[in-house]
Amino acid sequence: MAENTTIKSMDDIVALCRRRGFIWQSSEMYGGINGFWDYGPLGAQLKKNLKDAWWNDIITCPPAGLDHNPIHVVPVDTTIIMHPKVWEASGHIGGFNDPMVDCRHCKARFRADHIDQMQCAKKPSKKPGEHTDCDLTEPRAFNLMFQTHTGAVQNDDSLTYLRPETAQGIFTQFWNVVDTSRVKVPFGMAQMGKSFRNEVTPRNFTFRSREFEQMEIEFFIHPDEAEQWYRYWRDSRYEWWQKVGLAGGNLILREHDKEELAHYAKEGAGVCDVEYRFPFTSPGYGELEGIAHRSNYDLSQHAKHCGKGDKLRYFDQEKNERYFPHVIEPSAGADRGTLALLCEAYTPTPDRKGAKAVMQFTPRMAPIKAGIFPLVNKDGMPEIAQKLYQNLRNKYTVQLDVKQNIGKRYARMDEAGTPYCFTIDGDTASDQAVTVRDRDTLEQQRISLDKVNAFLDEKING
Ligand code: ATP
Repeated sequence: MAENTTIKSMDDIVALCRRRGFIWQSSEMYGGINGFWDYGPLGAQLKKNLKDAWWNDIITCPPAGLDHNPIHVVPVDTTIIMHPKVWEASGHIGGFNDPMVDCRHCKARFRADHIDQMQCAKKPSKKPGEHTDCDLTEPRAFNLMFQTHTGAVQNDDSLTYLRPETAQGIFTQFWNVVDTSRVKVPFGMAQMGKSFRNEVTPRNFTFRSREFEQMEIEFFIHPDEAEQWYRYWRDSRYEWWQKVGLAGGNLILREHDKEELAHYAKEGAGVCDVEYRFPFTSPGYGELEGIAHRSNYDLSQHAKHCGKGDKLRYFDQEKNERYFPHVIEPSAGADRGTLALLCEAYTPTPDRKGAKAVMQFTPRMAPIKAGIFPLVNKDGMPEIAQKLYQNLRNKYTVQLDVKQNIGKRYARMDEAGTPYCFTIDGDTASDQAVTVRDRDTLEQQRISLDKVNAFLDEKING
């Protein structure tokens, strides 16, 4: 893919997302709710394609590991509400806090560590604290976990939380997986699902939401192999994000400084982020995925808090040794990933008729893989188009479009990011061929009707 590092307008990207049905504000008809977003037909499919790629490339067809054999990663699907002690053990009840400041004058709330990048709602735009009326409190800790109650009676005993990460569901089921599946260290457990954080200042479209989806892997290893596996995951996750479409020069891998590290990672093999240069972070970057050596912190904490302690040490038959495995955690966000795909794909096209922009998704990520157009609605063309559509839809998300002139149909597909359009014209009945038009190069070529399936196969999976 071409270098694609020009700064794009976030307003234009958000407008296209609205216009074409990628992303809308949740409960929009009631004025919206801050920090919550809905995906429309194109957005839901785009996000699913990203999650499917992750599932496929990690669980179904995993990459080769350090010994060149495919690594072993098993999936789990655990609940959003868990026993409250889970969050005591993980440190979230005590430590999952952001420092926040309130403005006593306008009642707005800001993250103390982000104040330099924020604007007070008052005009003219200034940073919080810079207007004469601003009256900011001292920073105070604000716990990010959403609380709820389970059962009919609401009291301290019924207090539960919506999970702020999917990882703890993995750690708490580690022992069941070891007992029931044929896994041995090194192996991984993976889960994708919703997480919830009552972010102090949700902003930048879906980047900082209060409800979002994570794709997390916990890869369990012998402590002596932490360095190698950390490097392995750091490099393979960076390459994966490039492969799904972020290869245009906006992606970096950033190792954390020692001061930034969480308590469990201080002595570890390393912590880094895969970061993307979003239009709203540029020239800086925003995190898509964190890769961290979390030592044996979580497993040993759960062993201690559930009262079984050392009894829960893993027995390594090959090494004839009992230990709490260490873990390398690649933890990614599906919503931030989808947003990065949207930003990367967005390419303004002032010279193209009808479409303000073309969304240059990779064929694998594109929500619609192909458009099928009968040139006119007569002379047998609609019937051939219908047949081709029926044939392709068993395998791919394709769209049959018979409305308006061909230019408008192309424009709709360009903004949806559809990489190929097949047009059935007056010659198709006799030569059994269609014209395929490439979204990015605009090149057109004639291919035989019976090769269309193989053509798409090659472009999407080749
Ligand atoms: P940040 O520093 O940006 O708040 P984080 O370091 O707290 O992120 P992690 O706890 O490492 O994030 O979560 C793993 C991934 O989950 C992140 O890389 C991101 O993709 C996603 N994520 C975390 N918080 C949010 C959020 N509020 N909205 C959308 N995605 C999020």
